[in-house]
Amino acid sequence: MTQQKRKFGFETRMLHAGHIPDPVTGARAVPIYQTTSYVFEDTDKAAQLFELKQYGNIYTRINNPTNAAFEERIASLENATGAVATASGMAAQFATMMTLLEPGDEIVSSSHLYGGTTTQFTHTFRKLGLKTHFVDPTHIDNWAAAITPKTRALYGETIGNPRGSILDIAALADLAHAHKIPLIVDSTFATPYLCRPIDWGADIVVHSATKFIGGHGNSIAGVVIDSGRFDFSTFPTIADPDPAYHELRFYETFGHYGFLMKVRAVTLRDTGAALSPFNAFLLIQGLETLSVRMDRHVQNAHAVARFLHDHPKVAWVAYAGLPDSPYYDLAQKYTPKGPGAVFTFGIKASNPRLAGKEFIESLHLFSHLANVGDARSLVIHPASTTHQQLSDAELQAGGVDAGMIRLSIGLETTEDLLWDLDQALQSTSV
Ligand SMILES: *Cc1c(COP(=O)(O)O)cnc(C)c1O
Repeated sequence: MTQQKRKFGFETRMLHAGHIPDPVTGARAVPIYQTTSYVFEDTDKAAQLFELKQYGNIYTRINNPTNAAFEERIASLENATGAVATASGMAAQFATMMTLLEPGDEIVSSSHLYGGTTTQFTHTFRKLGLKTHFVDPTHIDNWAAAITPKTRALYGETIGNPRGSILDIAALADLAHAHKIPLIVDSTFATPYLCRPIDWGADIVVHSATKFIGGHGNSIAGVVIDSGRFDFSTFPTIADPDPAYHELRFYETFGHYGFLMKVRAVTLRDTGAALSPFNAFLLIQGLETLSVRMDRHVQNAHAVARFLHDHPKVAWVAYAGLPDSPYYDLAQKYTPKGPGAVFTFGIKASNPRLAGKEFIESLHLFSHLANVGDARSLVIHPASTTHQQLSDAELQAGGVDAGMIRLSIGLETTEDLLWDLDQALQSTSV
């Protein structure tokens, strides 16, 4: 049948990939398999499952049918070989690094990162004997100069914090591959609808599915996605015999699925950051409307960015969708539908720290909280919250302006968002 050869479109896969109607009940939506464990047919079958000679469900810390539907769907949307879901975005990054690295290994990472990632890569890594070299990601030479014989991966965000820099994925993939190491990309702010890093040469993609993938601010979740293209045949942790799995060689045994098998069978088994099946169900609901929501998020973000750009009380706007952004050209290349809906701007004021506080307190519609990628619009003022203890000089060194405001633009009526921002800007007195 020609139908079976058809490569279905992105939107079709958002709704159908990874699931067929339940053969027993006929249920059309993906059922929530809220179970810890699965009955084995017999003892031989059980032994084969544990030896990884046959693939099947053992225990929900390692695999679960609802989670599997989410994993297959997101892998399909990223044009990947497969995926492993995790309890959070932090857990997805950590599982990736725990699978690839040994004590003494190093990575080179962009410094334009989510705050939690910076602390994980600095402090938790140090305890494990791992080292991260942070580089300003905007010049490829910085990356090249930081690579040493111990470097095992390059890491960056498609759309980086806090200034919305766009990662030059194709150039970094070439650099990584010249050194026989994988490029890992956190594509949380882009989602597979706005950018598919694997299409540009990235090897592994991680997401905080907490954000736009779930899309409604109700579940913490993450996912590790593998292109299946990186040559792990000489990469020590994936190719060498693994004492954590009776000397199994993951590359030799599972080929291009070796990395993900090790993430699941060793790292998830031993670190335990598994996704709840109920949360997987909510993420699947999110994926089913991803393109529609992202189009609307981006449309509202553009309107808000343009409005702020022309507002007399605004000093600067850092959105890669504005033609005067230094990242505009890279955004046109990597995120042609729009560089997401999270960005920062600065208030023009003699006391920007106080103006930021007044602005936040005057908003009616934007929710003041520490998250992004909700259907609702969100706001945070780093200088009075996450970076509160720092002096103005320290803020500057960290790339955080005292008057910097971060917005995550939601799906509300555009004019209502502009109205709310305008009235709050008008009520800043300093
Ligand atoms: C939120 C976030 C994370 C961490 O994800 P959690 O789901 O909160 O653990 C990592 N990277 C980026 C870009 C994020 O926005």
